[in-house]
Amino acid sequence: MQTRRKFLGVSLIGSAAVLAPKNSFAISGGLKEAASGSPVVLSTWDFGKTANVGAWNVLATGGRALDAVEAGVKIPEADETNQTIGYGGLPDRDGYVTLDACIMDEHYNCGSVMCLQDIVHPISVARLVMEKTPHIILAGEGALQFALANGFKRKNLLTEKSKKDWKEWLKTSKYNPQINIENRLYDKKTDPMPGGPKNHDTIGMVAMDANGNISGACTTSGLAYKMHGRVGDSPVIGAGLYVDNEVGAASASGVGEEVIRIVGSHLVVELMRQGLKPEEACKKAVERIVQRGPERSKTIQVAFIALNKQGEVGGYSLQPGFSYSVRSNMIDQVIPAKSYYS
Ligand code: ASP
Repeated sequence: MQTRRKFLGVSLIGSAAVLAPKNSFAISGGLKEAASGSPVVLSTWDFGKTANVGAWNVLATGGRALDAVEAGVKIPEADETNQTIGYGGLPDRDGYVTLDACIMDEHYNCGSVMCLQDIVHPISVARLVMEKTPHIILAGEGALQFALANGFKRKNLLTEKSKKDWKEWLKTSKYNPQINIENRLYDKKTDPMPGGPKNHDTIGMVAMDANGNISGACTTSGLAYKMHGRVGDSPVIGAGLYVDNEVGAASASGVGEEVIRIVGSHLVVELMRQGLKPEEACKKAVERIVQRGPERSKTIQVAFIALNKQGEVGGYSLQPGFSYSVRSNMIDQVIPAKSYYS
């Protein structure tokens, strides 16, 4: 299983310029990955590298970005060793694994499911909401009924490992979403919390296909041990994900409440519309979170990734430790993001 700090097969080099392979070049505030028209996919965290394989299989054969992002994020959704997404995700405080996901295409079509249980691939349900209903969001029992009516099979998503971690957590029931900051504020010795620093991490993925069209997907089991019914930013169009095919796309990971407050992904896209490079736009959005809550911002993690219409990519986080995975004709890398705090 990959962890954020292992960066399997990837050299930990802090500079995008050094990471850039031949024929690509670093530019101020964004890594130039592909000329417009060349496919590129990027996703949150190091486990995005594996997800990118699924997306790349579609993109490399001339497929649509929408199909690519769906195929890509389905990989961690089905991976039971990933305790922050889909099957195997850590449950809420009552022991229910509830999933949030959304998807958006190049025509501003979007679909979302919130608090969905017992379905391994919420992203595919979100896509069906987009394509088969007049609505954008289905939640809870209604989303489940819609999925079952469309042929999805029920599966218990709570694995033995996640059940064990939850039972351990129940001993103290310490609800504290202010974690997920490895090596920094989180101290396993003084503040043990089963599930620990890996108790939240969403996969957000954005991609551009060979036709220059952009789509995105975002899927998560949300904050571990959250209140039952809690929905984060990930299925909220504009917060966890936004795509504007004229400008670019962005996605988020981290404490969703903070991302929703600033409508983070939409903000990143609008900043790119104003001319900022992807990394600069992500940085500005992170700074907005700091401005509106300087003290709180020290205790949480939030991260953004972005892709513009020129095929440039970037990411930025509040705390160190965030990375994003990029795949194009020229690169297949996990890139450690710069962060506001050091
Ligand atoms: N954004 C997710 C949520 O708030 C969690 C995460 O990405 O870590 O549900």
